[in-house]
Amino acid sequence: MTLLKVEHLSKHYEGRRGMIERLTGTAHTVVRAVNDVSLTVDRGEILGLIGESGCGKSTLGRAILRLHEPTSGRVSFDGTDVTALAPAALKAMRRRMQIIFQDPYASLNPRRTVAQIVGLPLELHGLAEGEEARAIVARIIERVGLKANQLDRYPHQFSGGQRQRIGIARALVSNPEFVVCDEPVSALDVSIQAQIIALLQELKQEFGLTYLFISHDISVIGYLSDRVAVMYLGEIVEMGPVNAVLSQPRHPYTQSLMSAVPELDREGPRRRVRLTGDLPSPLNPPAGCKFHTRCPLAAETCRRLAPVTEQVGPGHSAACHRLDERLNLLAEAGA
Ligand code: ADP
Ligand code: MG
Repeated sequence: MTLLKVEHLSKHYEGRRGMIERLTGTAHTVVRAVNDVSLTVDRGEILGLIGESGCGKSTLGRAILRLHEPTSGRVSFDGTDVTALAPAALKAMRRRMQIIFQDPYASLNPRRTVAQIVGLPLELHGLAEGEEARAIVARIIERVGLKANQLDRYPHQFSGGQRQRIGIARALVSNPEFVVCDEPVSALDVSIQAQIIALLQELKQEFGLTYLFISHDISVIGYLSDRVAVMYLGEIVEMGPVNAVLSQPRHPYTQSLMSAVPELDREGPRRRVRLTGDLPSPLNPPAGCKFHTRCPLAAETCRRLAPVTEQVGPGHSAACHRLDERLNLLAEAGA
């Protein structure tokens, strides 16, 4: 059953006017961080969102929760149009939709104790107060692997992994149904990453959660996700069941992500797709297919026309003019 439905969502930031814009008299700049994204997440599912830094993953996560107001498009949660909610109703909806941030250092108020930080959602949503709130906070704090006698400590008294546990407790204390996990392990040591991922998996089972799990690390995404969405310069270029996307990536960009991780390459050696150049700026995205400036298969059409999203398998879609050429390349490589 669909819990979250995102339709044609865009988020464009009005860019700040920098020195160059002032000197050249450019009126304003627009950062097209997220462009016309549509996706669904079923209840109980983990949708992994992958893409390189700056491609718009956090912006999409925040726009879904309306932490950043979308420029256009629609988000429905459990049948309610979130994008149309008035402030009070949106606040009530936030109890059900939470976020865990990448940086456990920046996302916790250094002047608040654990009890205050984790208790805040209870207060905001009028769920509990006083001793009752403290008891609820103590329970969730113990559940995420900290101790109830640490409630009156401050964030700086904890390690990075422990701070992320506090962030997880804060997200879960209001008993949400859906959580955007925005690179929750990217800032942590590798040994700690595995513990936090295991914790998030346990909590998902226990609390019946649904995750949008954001990462730039395809092995984390491959391990955790039921389905995967691949993002490039603000757009979803491929989406589908994790096995289909990882073992038969159809978009050249997904292919390049996969061939960078040999241990994930489930079909053995295949022709490598190496990307040249950096992610173009969302201030001035390329015309046609946005990937054409870095795509080894780019042809004339790709420079002129944006590809439409096509069905390439059960629940599997990709947006590329050269899907068939891709297959030929794979055949050539003996995959
Ligand atoms: P990711 O999470 O994939 O690394 P982000 O969503 O953070 O990417 O950023 C996508 C693009 O939007 C980047 O070019 C970034 O510089 C820009 N951006 C993000 N937040 C803002 C903002 N508040 N104002 C202007 N531009 C922003
Ligand atoms: Mg981000």
